[in-house]
Amino acid sequence: MAPQFDAVVVGAGFGGMGAGIELDRLGLSNFVILERENDLGGTWHVNHYPGLAVDIASVTYSYSFEPNPYWTRLFAPGAELKKYAEFVAGKYDLRRRMRFGTVVDGARWDEENQHWVVSLGGETLTGHYLLTATGFLSQPYTPPFPGIDSFAGKTIHTTAWEDDFDLNDRKAAIIGTGATAVQLVPEAAKKVRELTVFQRTPIWVVPKIDTAIPAPVQKLFARVPITQKAARLVNTSMLEALMVVGVLHFKQAKPVNKVASVLAKAHLRAQVHDKETREQLTPHYDFGCKRPTFSNQYFKTFNLPNVRLETNSIDHIEADGIVTTDGHKTEIDTLILATGFNLWDVNFPAIEIIGRDGIDLGKFWRDKRFQAYEGVTVPKFPNFICLNSPYSYSGLSYFTTIEAQMKHMGRLLKETFRRGETTFEVTERANAQFLDRVTDKLGSSVFYGGDCATARSYYFNQHGEAALLRPTSTINAHREAVSFPLDDYSYGTSA
Ligand code: NAP
Repeated sequence: MAPQFDAVVVGAGFGGMGAGIELDRLGLSNFVILERENDLGGTWHVNHYPGLAVDIASVTYSYSFEPNPYWTRLFAPGAELKKYAEFVAGKYDLRRRMRFGTVVDGARWDEENQHWVVSLGGETLTGHYLLTATGFLSQPYTPPFPGIDSFAGKTIHTTAWEDDFDLNDRKAAIIGTGATAVQLVPEAAKKVRELTVFQRTPIWVVPKIDTAIPAPVQKLFARVPITQKAARLVNTSMLEALMVVGVLHFKQAKPVNKVASVLAKAHLRAQVHDKETREQLTPHYDFGCKRPTFSNQYFKTFNLPNVRLETNSIDHIEADGIVTTDGHKTEIDTLILATGFNLWDVNFPAIEIIGRDGIDLGKFWRDKRFQAYEGVTVPKFPNFICLNSPYSYSGLSYFTTIEAQMKHMGRLLKETFRRGETTFEVTERANAQFLDRVTDKLGSSVFYGGDCATARSYYFNQHGEAALLRPTSTINAHREAVSFPLDDYSYGTSA
C-alpha cells in the first residue's frame, strides 16, 4: 500500500525546516512537518525570556543560502530569529505543510509495506521517509527539589516565560547559571527588588563583542551580498578555529585552550569587585568541557546591591523560600528555573522509534552505545534520517550541522533514486567504522584529555561518553556529507 506522504518530518524548528527545503529540492514535495508547539521556530518560538539573544553571531547563525541582511545587531535578539524562521517558512512554502499542536507518540517501520507509520494519539500517518528534527535542547528540565510543589509564590521555567509577567519589585531566585541564566540574570536584576542566583557549577563566560548593525551596513549586505558572505566566512572561521584547536585538539594544543580560560578569568577580574564572589564564579574545569557563554553584563550584575550569589546546595524548597544545606533560608516570592534541558534521558530519541525487527532506537542506543553514521542514520532503521543524533552536532552554530545533514540527505536520496530504488539503510560495517573513528578522535579532545570532572556538562551522556558533538572540523563534516562512500548504504525497493 502506498504511503500518504513522501516524508513525515517531526519538528518545525530550523532543523525540520532545512529538511523540508531539501525534500522540495529532491522533488519529494508531498511531506508533512509535525510540530507539538502552536507555531514554527523551535527554540526561537519556545524561548522568549528577557534578554534572549543568539550568542553565535547572526551572520553565521542562519542558513548560508538564505542570508538575512537586516539583523539589527551582530548578535540578534531572539525575536529576530523567530521572525527569520517565519520568513524562511514563507519563502520556501513550508507553513502550509506544517501541522501545529501535534504531539507525535511514536513511529514504527512497517516491514511489509516498507514505509513508516507515525502515530499521533488516535491518528496514524504513513510516509516513505521519516525525518526527526526534534532538537537537542527541547525537553525542559525541572530538578525534583524536595518541597518544590509547596512553593506558594510564582514559579516560572525559562522555556515557559509569560510575556506579561512583571518582575518589578519581586524577591526572586534564579536557579541555574547556564547560557540562559547568563542572559536572564542581568535583565531580571534591573527590575526585581532582590535577586538571589543559585549556582551549582560556575560557567566560563567570555566577553561578547556585540554592537548594533547600522542601517548603511544592512543596506550594503542587501545590495552587495558578497560582503555579508565575507563577514560570515571570517566569523565562521574564528569559531571553527576555537572549536577545532581549543576543544577538539586539546591534547595537541593545550595552550590555545588555556588562552580562552585566561581571557575569561581576566574578564571576571575586571568586572566583579568582591574577591570571594570572583572565586565562587571561577570554574574549576577546563574551558570547553561545558558550553561556554558570552556576556558583557552577567558578571557585573553581581556588584549590584540587590543581587546575591548563593553557592550552597539547595536542600529543599518551602512555601516562601529556598533552604540550602547550611540551613539558611532565602525568602522569595518568585522562583525562576533556568535549569535547562534533559538531553540524555528523554531526548535521544524524543519519540519512540521502532525499526526493523522491532528494534527500539532508545533501547538500542542505551544498550549498545549512542551512535549514528555521520550523525544521520542508524542500521536497522531504513528510510530514517535522524537529525538530532549522537555525534551529529558539528561546530558551534547549529546551522553548520543542519546544512551538512541536508547535503547528506541530498546525496543519499539522489543515489537511492538513481538506482531506481526507494529504500536505504546504512550498513552495520559503515556505522561501526564511524563510531570507532569518532571514539578515537574524542581521545584528543578536552572532553577526554582535559579536566572535566566537575563540569556537569550536558555534552556527556549517562555513561560518561561525550556523545553529542561530532569531533571533527565542520569542513570535514561538510566534505563527508557530499563524498561518503555510497556503498555505506544498502538500497532496496518498496513492496
Ligand atoms: P544549562 O546550560 O543546562 O544550565 C542549566 C543550569 O541549571 C545549570 O547551571 C545547572 O547546574 C542548573 N541546575 C540543573 N539542575 C540543578 C540542580 N538540581 N540544582 C542546582 N542547579 C541545577 O541550560 P540553559 O542555560 O538553558 O542552556 C542550555 C543551552 O541552550 C546552552 O548551553 C546553549 O547551547 C543554549 N542556549 C543558547 C542561547 C543562545 O543565545 N544561542 C541562549 C540560551 C541557551 P549545573 O551546571 O551544576 O548542572
